[in-house]
Amino acid sequence: MATFNDIQLLRTTYLRGPSVWTYRPVLEVWLDLGELEDYPSNKIPGLNERLTAWLPDLIEHHCGVGERGGFLLRLKEGTWMGHVLEHVVIELLNLAGMPAEFGQTREISQRGVYRMVFRCPRKPSPARRSPTATSC
Ligand SMILES: [Zn+2]
Repeated sequence: MATFNDIQLLRTTYLRGPSVWTYRPVLEVWLDLGELEDYPSNKIPGLNERLTAWLPDLIEHHCGVGERGGFLLRLKEGTWMGHVLEHVVIELLNLAGMPAEFGQTREISQRGVYRMVFRCPRKPSPARRSPTATSC
């Protein structure tokens, strides 16, 4: 199995009101994919199978395709790790009883660096705002 350096979380910001993303509160995370920038989901052997085995409800994610299974189709075709991470976080929030209902990931001008947001109805506590421990 291929191994890669960790994705670096550069900063997290709680946006409590209307923003460029949405009019609702969101948690914005800047992340650096590092070497994973060169490995979309279809280039890592077994990734998609492991993800869907661990998180079977990813089939419910419509993604930009707009229908059940949409995200799995994107995985199969090959999508970037920032987008994969977005859906994993959304699914983990769903499993924790905190449905995110909204998420987006957009690249910035710096190669491999992305801004990722999730709907976040509750402001994270100060103790959890470190780059390695964020929660909604
Ligand atoms: Zn998506």
